[in-house]
Amino acid sequence: MPDMLFCHCCRLHHPREQMSRHLTRHGYRWRCRRSIEAAQGSIAERDAFGRQQTQINVDLARQKAKRQFLSMQERRLLP
Ligand SMILES: [Zn+2]
Repeated sequence: MPDMLFCHCCRLHHPREQMSRHLTRHGYRWRCRRSIEAAQGSIAERDAFGRQQTQINVDLARQKAKRQFLSMQERRLLP
């Protein structure tokens, strides 16, 4: 068997050159770069989703503020 290390993420053995040490609550564990990149990718996707959600909230807040402003203007026009 070539130089294989146990990946604590996949629960499989991968070749040594694909592995990198990863700090966990239980200390250093070997993980393959693929699983680390996948985890980082999902974080990036979450961030993108969060930003998108923030933009939606900003847009909603802006619309709400605009509606309030317009209704205030309408009220001022009324006797
Ligand atoms: Zn793995």
